Amino acid sequence: MQHVFDVAVIGMGPAGAQAAVSAWHQGRDVLVLDAGDVSQRKGRAYWAKSVEIEDIPFVAPVTGPKLRAQVQARLRALAPGAPGARGVTLRGAYVLRVARAGDAFALEASTGPLRDGKIVARETFAARTVVVATGFEDGWPEIELDAAGRRMLERYRTVFRYAGNQSGWHLCIRCDGHLHHGQHFVFLGVGEEIYEAALGAQDFTSSITILTNGRPPGLPQAVLRQAQARDIRIDTRRIARHIGQGTRLEGVVFEDGEELLADGFLTDEGLEPNTAFLEDFALQRSADGLLRVGESGEALRLDGTPEPGLYVAGDLVAGARKLIAAAAASGQDAGLAASDSLRRWHWPEE
Ligand SMILES: Cc1cc2nc3c(=O)[nH]c(=O)nc-3n(C[C@H](O)[C@H](O)[C@H](O)COP(=O)(O)OP(=O)(O)OC[C@H]3O[C@@H](n4cnc5c(N)ncnc54)[C@H](O)[C@@H]3O)c2cc1C
Repeated sequence: MQHVFDVAVIGMGPAGAQAAVSAWHQGRDVLVLDAGDVSQRKGRAYWAKSVEIEDIPFVAPVTGPKLRAQVQARLRALAPGAPGARGVTLRGAYVLRVARAGDAFALEASTGPLRDGKIVARETFAARTVVVATGFEDGWPEIELDAAGRRMLERYRTVFRYAGNQSGWHLCIRCDGHLHHGQHFVFLGVGEEIYEAALGAQDFTSSITILTNGRPPGLPQAVLRQAQARDIRIDTRRIARHIGQGTRLEGVVFEDGEELLADGFLTDEGLEPNTAFLEDFALQRSADGLLRVGESGEALRLDGTPEPGLYVAGDLVAGARKLIAAAAASGQDAGLAASDSLRRWHWPEE
């Protein structure tokens, strides 16, 4: 007989880790499956490599890799004393498919790193409820994406050299804007998201340039007028390459050979939700593919009813703030709701 966990949490970022600890705290037998040790999908916060995350008051300022190591150590310390007892079982596993199996869920996962692109270790786990907290991967600018660059992107899910550094491509103005107070900040992207980021930059600087890398800006006339009035330059030239030293990004060269140097760089080229394993479920999504949830944190079906026992937390939730404390808060809600749903008796029906 396969062991059936009370709660399976997919993802060990701030949302998944908090969901697991909250469900464990209520006496549950929790399984955490996290792809970080068997793939390059290590979670968004991980990529803050040389920038300390400093807006969470419960821990001292910490880089992403150190935060991940601390969380992993804490979950490992909660391992159950015996199978089925209250505890957290942490496994390195890239979840490939979640499906219903009777009253429970079956979670199929790759539990070892791929070898020559092939799955070498495949396991199936069972749980009565599931919390999905797998976040998303950030899109990257189409600069120097030759064959080697593309391989790097596939392997590390990032434009490796200039990502997550004090002076590299930032992905979140609220996270990293303070690093460039009063400095020249370059934004790369098109449409409302990139202008939203530029609006956020006014808290730190008034020297702002938006680059579209060969595309139309995709902004309404009123926004273009405001940008002009605020001295925000919008440059639509195609970018040929980066200017940088080591991991330090210093500027870009346009295809016409002109150089643009700056102090801060932020890109918003969209996102790819980590939800391929949910294809058995027809769920409501936002335009960018994030999942809509009901009041209890359960994923919503297309007809608006909740998908029983399937909870979603963190960056993956449509409309949620993409920050660590917010992710942890929704992880707590999802972990507690999953735990509550397992109680044997509830408020009596009239
Ligand atoms: C460079 C950078 C800097 C940031 N700085 C800050 C900051 O200073 N302050 C702040 O509050 N926020 C910051 N953020 C935002 C913050 O990192 C996110 O809001 C937060 O990490 C979201 O948490 P999450 O748990 O939802 O997802 P993630 O942290 O993205 O975690 C997702 C987890 O799911 C796992 N996973 C993915 N796919 C699978 C799968 N198929 N099977 C199993 N596991 C899977 C991954 O391994 C990962 O562990 C930053 C983000 C970035 C990218």
